[in-house]
Amino acid sequence: MLETIRIDCPYCGEGFDTEADCSAGDQAYIEDCAVCCQPIEIALSVDHEGNLLSVRAQRNDE
Ligand SMILES: [Zn+2]
Repeated sequence: MLETIRIDCPYCGEGFDTEADCSAGDQAYIEDCAVCCQPIEIALSVDHEGNLLSVRAQRNDE
C-alpha cells in the first residue's frame, strides 16, 4: 500500500512529495532530498491496519 507523503527537508527547508509503503508497519529509512540531495532520515508510524499515523523527517548527522 503506497501512500504519498509530504516531506519538509530538514536541511534546505523545501517540501517535496514522496511515496511510502505503509504495509510494512513502523519503519525508518533514508531518502535523499529531491531538492538538495542531502540524506533525510524518514520515520513512519503506521497502525496495525496500515494507516499512516505520522511522518518524521530529520537530519542524518548525529
Ligand atoms: Zn533539501
